[in-house]
Amino acid sequence: MTRAIISFDTELSAGLYQRGIGARANFESSILGRCREGDFGIHFQMDMLERHGLTGVYFVDPMPALVHGPSVIEAIVRPIIERGHEVQLHLHTEWLTFARFNPAGRLTGRNIGDFPLAAQKKLIGFARDMLVAAGAPTPIAFRAGNFGANDDTLRALASLGFRFDSSFNGAWAGHGCEISLDPGNLGMRVHHGLCEVPVSGLLDRASRFRPAQLCAMSEEEMRDALDHSAASDAIQFSAFSHSFELLSRDRAVANRLAIERMEALCRAIAEDPRVTSGGFATLPAPPAQPRRIQVAAPKPFRTARRIVEQAAGHLAHEVRYVRDLIAVTVNSSRWGKILGGVFLAVA
Ligand SMILES: [Zn+2]
Repeated sequence: MTRAIISFDTELSAGLYQRGIGARANFESSILGRCREGDFGIHFQMDMLERHGLTGVYFVDPMPALVHGPSVIEAIVRPIIERGHEVQLHLHTEWLTFARFNPAGRLTGRNIGDFPLAAQKKLIGFARDMLVAAGAPTPIAFRAGNFGANDDTLRALASLGFRFDSSFNGAWAGHGCEISLDPGNLGMRVHHGLCEVPVSGLLDRASRFRPAQLCAMSEEEMRDALDHSAASDAIQFSAFSHSFELLSRDRAVANRLAIERMEALCRAIAEDPRVTSGGFATLPAPPAQPRRIQVAAPKPFRTARRIVEQAAGHLAHEVRYVRDLIAVTVNSSRWGKILGGVFLAVA
């Protein structure tokens, strides 16, 4: 059986904070996925998972507590735990720049892998304690913000008693993700005392890795990647997303394409008898001689179909944007009102 892990990096946006957005509005946009069409964040995601009988993993970043205090992290963690999904540790070191207290002293950096081993240990241990104080069970799995981990991150996690890391993403290997593993192998394996659970994916062109991320893969690619893992008898298939990924890029409206893709992924997992859903808490350790799970080969027409689908999705968003802009212009201009009045009088 292959365990399908659907994970969501769940985080306030440091970018919104820098633009002067307060904790409440950041929470509503980044966690609740609130836009003018409704809420498409973690509750919407959990509703969908539960309709298909699936369990999700939420990698929650507690670092904003250093700036906003602990209550915002409690508000993120509580409903996830109450609804029976898993909370694990995510960590964005960008927040240290704004923090009132820095567990790493004066050191700052974009990625956890930018820090020396001793500082990584302090930061991860401190973040873990903040997450537990916010109501989460002691996390056993970790994902670095921006996938920016290195081998020292794994050493630090192992010394802190973590069992799994899920920071290895072939799309970022050598570009911020500095864990020294072969991106051509998707198998779970032990590295520096910790079990690495790589992000799944496939090749969309020769030697170009496309991760199993909701907004990056078409339904067809996701189904193929899942099928490849199950057919290879892999221990796990790991797909990921974000708490805000079902919103459009400008976060103004829902991203219909991403919602359809998540629905299709949930359906594919629920209907595949070779696949079970779940998190890390009950994930078996890899065997002493772990099998190599080769990344699936590229299929040029599949890649082309995704590019067309994505372009159509962007176009639909732009059309909606222009339509809304015209509506706003008509309602706010004098001529718009006069024409609107004439229209109403005639009608
Ligand atoms: Zn993140």
